[in-house]
Amino acid sequence: MPTLREIGEIEAVSRLRAARLETPGVVVGPGDDAAVLRPPAAAELVATTDVLVEGRHYRSDWIQAAALGERLVAANLSDLAAMAARPLWALVSIGARSEHDIEDLLRLQAGIARALEAHDAAVVGGNLAAVEGAEWFALTLLGEVEPGCAWTRSGARPGDLIAVSGAPGRAGAAVRLLQALGIAEVAQTAPELLLAWSSPADRIELAGALSRAGGVTAAIDISDGMAGDLAQLCEASGVGAELDERAWPADAALALAAERLDVALDDLRFGPSDDYELLLAVDPASRDACGRAAADLGVPLAVVGRFTEAPGVLAWRTREGALAALPGRGYDHFGSA
Ligand SMILES: [Mg+2]
Repeated sequence: MPTLREIGEIEAVSRLRAARLETPGVVVGPGDDAAVLRPPAAAELVATTDVLVEGRHYRSDWIQAAALGERLVAANLSDLAAMAARPLWALVSIGARSEHDIEDLLRLQAGIARALEAHDAAVVGGNLAAVEGAEWFALTLLGEVEPGCAWTRSGARPGDLIAVSGAPGRAGAAVRLLQALGIAEVAQTAPELLLAWSSPADRIELAGALSRAGGVTAAIDISDGMAGDLAQLCEASGVGAELDERAWPADAALALAAERLDVALDDLRFGPSDDYELLLAVDPASRDACGRAAADLGVPLAVVGRFTEAPGVLAWRTREGALAALPGRGYDHFGSA
């Protein structure tokens, strides 16, 4: 199978472009100097970007190329979901070593395309650069939202409920298991955690359903870890938060991972983890409507606490009723941990 060096940049770009499909709103698509796009009438555009860096966000022995492409899309879909937006168009930028196999890149690109197609979105342009060190894959995603309907981080009020989708902490637990035990062992003994990291579900449909149900006052996606992202939402809204252990969803797989890693379960629940789940502030009056909207989609949505009047104070009410500081902290991209 030929490498990028063997076929050269022009041929590689042409092959990567060949698989792309026609997309609504694309006036000029891939192959020109830039894409020309016609935004939907009466919509606001929503833009986000994210990058996966080899050695930092993944190791090539942990994940197949197609799944890596899907995961790159998932990271960006998660940001759009946190704004209650839907995806439209994506731009991909790749920094690959010259010995990278073109077939492998095509599989990655197919993974990107597949994940976008599920939402009738597509890649409309891209760039390929040669690197000598770590490889990276960046995606910029444009989406739409009805004017004035985007969620932000800043709308939570004291008394609003704290709701969280899915099973937070699993992706971070998977990475720690991978680092400790390697891919073969984790694939065999913790497949549900590995899947949470390698193929996270996107929450675009959930966000749309909750937006229609009404009552979400603020939102953020969990991309750095529950404690870190909750802190960011609280800071933006000028509120505090109190989580209730009795309301926290039980997760036997996470508990088992904590045992195997010899760490506290709360470290995995609240510590660094890019779960791509939604963390929401919900008006108590809309609790039932939001619960029904999530249940109709079969997505777990747990009410795990409430926002308080103490700005920046994150509290944790334990099963025994004691009030403590919330354990764990988010992933600091420039920190030491
Ligand atoms: Mg985000």
